[in-house]
Amino acid sequence: MILMQGKGVSKGVVKGPLYFFRRQDTTVGKTTVNDQSVEQARLQQAQEKAIAQLEALAERCREEAGDESAVLFETHAMFVEDEDFASCIQSTMEEENCNAEYAVQTAGEQFAAMFAAMDDAYMQARAADIRDVARRILNNLMGVVEGGIDSDEPVIVAADDLAPSETIQLDKSKILGFVTQGGSGNSHTAILARTMGIPAVCGLGDALKADYSGRLAYVDGETGSVVLEPDELTLATMREKYARQQEMNALYQTMKGQEDVTLDGKKVNVYCNIGSPEDVAAVLSNDGQGIGLFRSEFLYLAADDYPSEDTQFEAYKSVAAAMDGKRVIIRTLDIGADKQVAYFDMKKEENPALGVRAIRICLNRPEVFRAQLRALYRASAYGKIAIMFPMITSVWEVRECKRACQKVMAELEKEGIPFNKDTEIGVMIETPASVFVAEELAREVDFFSVGTNDLTQYTLACDRQANDLGKFFDPHHPAVLRALKMAADAAHKAGIWIGICGELGADVSMLPTFLAIGIDELSVSPSAVLPLRAAIRKSIAKTCTLEALEC
Ligand code: PEP
Ligand code: MG
Repeated sequence: MILMQGKGVSKGVVKGPLYFFRRQDTTVGKTTVNDQSVEQARLQQAQEKAIAQLEALAERCREEAGDESAVLFETHAMFVEDEDFASCIQSTMEEENCNAEYAVQTAGEQFAAMFAAMDDAYMQARAADIRDVARRILNNLMGVVEGGIDSDEPVIVAADDLAPSETIQLDKSKILGFVTQGGSGNSHTAILARTMGIPAVCGLGDALKADYSGRLAYVDGETGSVVLEPDELTLATMREKYARQQEMNALYQTMKGQEDVTLDGKKVNVYCNIGSPEDVAAVLSNDGQGIGLFRSEFLYLAADDYPSEDTQFEAYKSVAAAMDGKRVIIRTLDIGADKQVAYFDMKKEENPALGVRAIRICLNRPEVFRAQLRALYRASAYGKIAIMFPMITSVWEVRECKRACQKVMAELEKEGIPFNKDTEIGVMIETPASVFVAEELAREVDFFSVGTNDLTQYTLACDRQANDLGKFFDPHHPAVLRALKMAADAAHKAGIWIGICGELGADVSMLPTFLAIGIDELSVSPSAVLPLRAAIRKSIAKTCTLEALEC
């Protein structure tokens, strides 16, 4: 038996073959080609494959999401076949006697620039489509596996570490679990695993060896153990745990359709955190009463270029429509720190967690912010969307955000595009500064949502990414809980509600403290909804105390 011990960061017991994630080099160089006919044949094969892939995607989309969504992939297939685009690739290859990869990349850039320079906003938005199409042909030429997992059966993905942008691009249908050498429980990769309900263990260090590839592994996302060739006792323990997990799941199913209310009548809205429109299925199947945090930056992390206003609009609209009138809080772009997006071309920073991230980027790049706000307001006509701003430290930032919203609403009004002018606006409380000015902030917005992951990081001066800070990174620290209470008091004084969307919100042991503080909403990963509801329904809010705030 081989036993590896790490830190369990997403609960659940699972078994499956280990698959080592490989980073693929997708840089394109220019090379001289000896035989152009061989190169032309490679290109043709890559184009035919792209068309087949896009037709299959359109078909799947039509079955799952209807005709409207399928049209995008059909349009992409038409781009591949477009005579001008294809002959531009061909002539570059012939004239420069170069490789197909270089010609496809050059033609893609030329056409994208041409669309981007057009006056019409719709045509400008096609630049992103043409880049997407060129990237697909390139991937086929270079043998890059889409979804990153070259396996027909689902696997346990193993890696040294995984960046959020890498995790989000993996094909979720093929992932049974994650195991990594590095990483921390508060990193966005761990958060993503919890959102997807996939067991995960991090911090396995050198014990996780690449030559274990393909071997059957048993992963316990709670205790953090990963076992190969388990002995009888370990196997029996794992099986028992799995059976208990199934039993508990069955028990939690009885919570569906029940109200999130304590025995003495205190209502706590239990909402969900999501990273993509696909996560809505898990929200609905776990009976989440709304979405308390849609991390919109994952749309940016999953793409090779800025997602257009239209692409974002479709994503937000689909979530709003699927939630059918329930509140959907969409957080504006929160990149920077561990969430790096190459095409933003950000300057390298010494301390990125304290650098130009989140709202600071949006306020520095009004054109990026505008596209997102336009998409959000357009989508507000299709459901109950609320907009939330991350990493706020000052009142002027919120005022500037609100001015940007007003400007976008005036534009849409003029263009005759429908939107909800009463769309709620909220801020995240995740910096000590925002706690200290909470009373003033509360007068500017409709709600607060506390990001306990960052609030812990910035209050305790502990890097949330570091996996060796152990007990020093403590979201239960009285300083963090007192900050929570100060923000709640400020919110209630101004007559607005306050929720928690950081990972602490799902910690059932903290529920009495949240009730004593008067938290109105808890937003958690979809799989945590029903256990939390069960705990709320057993609680008596009146008897809860603030004991945890004492040192
Ligand atoms: C938080 O900081 O608690 C939060 C919810 O935002 P994120 O984890 O995405 O930084
Ligand atoms: Mg945060």
